[in-house]
Formats: sequence, structure tokens, C-alpha cells
Amino acid sequence: MTDTVPATLAADPTSGRPPACDIAVVGGGAAGLHVALEAADAGGRVTVVSRTPLTGSASFRAQGGLAAAIGPGDTVDKHAADTLEAGRGLCEPAVVEVLVREAPAAVENLMKRGVEFDLEPDGELALGLEGGHSERRIVHAGGAETGRAITSRLAELVAAHPGIDVLEGASAQALWTSGGTCVGVITDRGPLRAGGTVLATGGGAALWRRTTNPRGAIGAGSVLAAAAGAELADLELCQFHPTALALPGSDLDGWLITEAVRGEGALLLDAAGERFTDELSPRDAVAAAILDRMAADGAPFVSLDLRPVPLERFPTITRTLASVGLDPAAGPVPVAPASHYLIGGVRTDLHCRSSVPGLLAVGEAACTGLHGANRLASNSLSECFVFGSRAAVAALEGDTGGQDPFPPGEDGWRFTGPTTATREAVWELAGPLRDAATLRRLLEDPYPLARLIATSALKREESRGVHRRSDFPATETSLDLHHVVIDGTGEPRLERWA
Ligand SMILES: Cc1cc2nc3c(=O)[nH]c(=O)nc-3n(C[C@H](O)[C@H](O)[C@H](O)COP(=O)(O)OP(=O)(O)OC[C@H]3O[C@@H](n4cnc5c(N)ncnc54)[C@H](O)[C@@H]3O)c2cc1C
Repeated sequence: MTDTVPATLAADPTSGRPPACDIAVVGGGAAGLHVALEAADAGGRVTVVSRTPLTGSASFRAQGGLAAAIGPGDTVDKHAADTLEAGRGLCEPAVVEVLVREAPAAVENLMKRGVEFDLEPDGELALGLEGGHSERRIVHAGGAETGRAITSRLAELVAAHPGIDVLEGASAQALWTSGGTCVGVITDRGPLRAGGTVLATGGGAALWRRTTNPRGAIGAGSVLAAAAGAELADLELCQFHPTALALPGSDLDGWLITEAVRGEGALLLDAAGERFTDELSPRDAVAAAILDRMAADGAPFVSLDLRPVPLERFPTITRTLASVGLDPAAGPVPVAPASHYLIGGVRTDLHCRSSVPGLLAVGEAACTGLHGANRLASNSLSECFVFGSRAAVAALEGDTGGQDPFPPGEDGWRFTGPTTATREAVWELAGPLRDAATLRRLLEDPYPLARLIATSALKREESRGVHRRSDFPATETSLDLHHVVIDGTGEPRLERWA
């Protein structure tokens, strides 16, 4: 993407008011790019505010692909059943229904936009298998370069679209609210009025020191939304990916080795070289089995044996491992869980609307209840596109006409990112296995989202899916379908959603 608006946002020359657009999209990952294209194609004037270049998004890193029930013998009902099963009694069924029904059309839409997915020799889409899926339904590109292929193509289209301005390298510092309604966004280049403001700022998994995510995945959307009074939900639910490369001290420590290799036969081995779990179970189960085995072995990692895998189909993995002197064809590589996906975020409805009028959220920034207590692999990219289309429609219903002419002054609240000490603390105190004593120590952290994560994790007094409490090891069936919601006051409550 290239800048198509000036470095500082200019005020309207006649009214002196800050510039306006129909939709301000904050974030230039898969969700943000898709919302921008859908809204601009529908005639909206869109401005995308994106802090990092494309390569800095989690979307760019996505390896496995996106899930859609399009293979022979597959059905939307099977996709829904797998999602619900993985979600451990916490998925919002109506949201799951939307995802599985609309995912096939989302794949088609991307192909129409020129995304080239991998094909079988007969020209049909090649479909991968991943943990928790009962059928082959993962659409991918370039082997394990799906995120790069999709986002690069969408970014080209966004840059060329006459209805979209891109403010690259610009950061949202606060939401602009008036009378309880969001009327735009304050960026470090000036204020921008918008009929609808869409947070597509990605997740917060990089708040945990050991992570598969880019450093910028710090949950900025949740922090901005909370400061504007919006409800957040499920912040205690962070998914730890089972197989991130374990190379402490190396830049590649935490580098994700896609689940798809386990779908193609890769094996998990303990210190004695023995298998110890079903490699194709849902992520929470595999991650827990690895952590338990690491503890039993007194080892900082387990091994992933990639020799059964047709490695020529995963050139990125072979190339990346070679760069740190590892040869997957010669022997197993060390892996351990790392934080991967923050299930919680800005609470939204089926149309991506938050509890603050005029403010929407989509992609990993949002929490619809889709993933329950454990995200099914490759449902999140599908979510970006399925709900991105819905967000574009809902955001266009906003109105740029009647808002306050001038934004709040410089002395208002502004976003400040987390320190390295916060990332250490979140990993140590709210890691894959928590308890009340450690979580309470996080309540004093200077970064608001760290405190909100601890508050939510304390409120859920059970273990479920990705949330494991050593002091509450059992799952409480009375908490099925109950979500931890935090409102503008910062107080948590348990709320039944279905
Ligand atoms: C290594 C890896 C592999 C993955 N593989 C898969 C997979 O195979 N399948 C799958 O479904 N999911 C996968 N995921 C998860 C998936 O990639 C993400 O959930 C999804 O891409 C999130 O997209 P997004 O658009 O919501 O956020 P992102 O892609 O993270 O984009 C967020 C954007 O917001 C910008 N931003 C943030 N804060 C601000 C601010 N204050 N102001 C302006 N801009 C801001 C960022 O710079 C970035 O451009 C993977 C994740 C990782 C890390």
C-alpha cells in the first residue's frame, strides 16, 4: 500500500472542520482490507488508517488457510459441529451458523478478486486437513503462504481503488465520541470524522512474551474501545498454539509451524521419542498435552517429527528451519506452545456493531462468541471475510452529517502501548496455566488490557478450553454459554449469550 492522503490530515477548507469519510477503517490486515473494499465497492468513501505495513499484520503471517465447507462430502452442518465441539460449550450458535453458511461465498469472493488458491491437478481447490476438523476444508495458497497471498492481493486492490484513501504508518490514538456515539477517530496525523468507525486492529496475543504474533498485536482495538465506553468480552480466553518453534534467544523463537503439517502426518514426540497425544485433536487439547508432557519430562520443549510430511508442499517451513540450521528431513525439531490468538475483544453483534453506536469491530479485534473457549483452526481468516462483508454494510448505515464540528482537545486520553515488562508479566502471570494468586499480581499492571485480562481470568472460576486454572481444574457446566463481559466501568460480569 502507498500513502494516498497527505502526512497531516487537512481540515475541510470551507467549514474548517476535520476531514470526513463514510467509513474509517482502523487496521490494514485481512479484515480491514476486506471491509474497505466491500464498503468502497458499495459506493462508500473509505479511509484506512494502518499503523504498520502489510507485513506487520498477523494476517500476512497466516500459514494454514481459511476454513469453508466446500469439499465433496462436507457440509455446513459438519463445519458447525466441529466449531461447536472445539469451542467447549461457549460458542454462540447463531454466530457459528453465519460463519459456516457464508464462508464458501467468502472463498468465491476472494477468487473473484484474483486471489490464487492452491489447486489439485484436476483444477479443483486443494483442501487441507487441520486439528479439530472432521473433513478436509482448509483452502490455502502457496503451500503455507496463505496470508501473504491473500493480503498482498487485497492490498493491491485497495491501493488502486478510487474510493479508498490509505493512511499508512498512521496510528489511531483515541476514538472520537460525542454524546455516547462514535463519530470518528483521532489519529497521530489529526482527527478524522466518519459515519462508521471500524476497528480491525487485530488481536492481543503479543502481550504474552512468547508468541507467534507480530509485536504490534497488543489489543489496541480493545484498549481504544474500552476508553470510549464499549463493552469487551472473553478476554481471559487466549489460545496457545501447540507447535511454535522453541529456540530461546533466537529471533525465530515462537515461529509458528502450521497445524497443516500434522494434518499431513507430522508426529509429536516426548523426550523418550514416544508419541503421547493425538496430533489432530483440537488445539487446547494438544497444547495441554504438550505442556503436561514438558512438565513430566522436565524439558522446555517436545519434538515435532516432520519426516512423514511431503515437505516439498511446505517450502517456507523447510527454508525457515534451514535458516537456523535445522533440517526437518534429518530429524525432529523442538516445539512448545506460544500465545497465538486472543479470542476475546470488543463485544459485537452479528453485524459487527459494538455497544457504542457508530463503532464497529471485526476480525481478531472483535468478540462475537464465534470461537467459544477454543478457536477451531482456520476459522479466523474465514471470520475476517464473512464478518468483514457484514461490517461494511452496517458501517455504511452511519451518517457523517451531524457530528460535533471539532474533536476533543490535545489533553484528552491517548493510547500508550505496553512495555516489555508488561509482556513478561502477562506471560508469567496469565500464561497457559493460571491461578488466582498470580492473576491478582497482574491487576496493577500499567497497560489497561493486561489488567482487564487478569480481571476476566479471575472472574472465570473454572477451566475450559484455552483457559486453564490450576485452582479450578474442572469445567463448570453451569457456566456453559456464559461469557465474561466488561463494561465501561471496568467491572466484569458473567452473561449468558444464547
Ligand atoms: C503466525 C500466524 C499464523 C496464522 N495462521 C492462520 C491460519 O492459517 N488460518 C487462520 O484462520 N488464522 C490464522 N492465524 C490467525 C489470523 O491470521 C488472524 O486472526 C487474522 O489474520 C487477524 O486479522 P485482522 O485483520 O483482524 O488483524 P491483523 O492482520 O493483525 O491486522 C491488524 C492491523 O491493525 C493495525 N493496527 C493495530 N493497532 C492500530 C492502531 N492503533 N492504529 C492503526 N492501525 C493499527 C496493524 O498494524 C495491522 O495492520 C494466524 C496467526 C498467526 C500470527
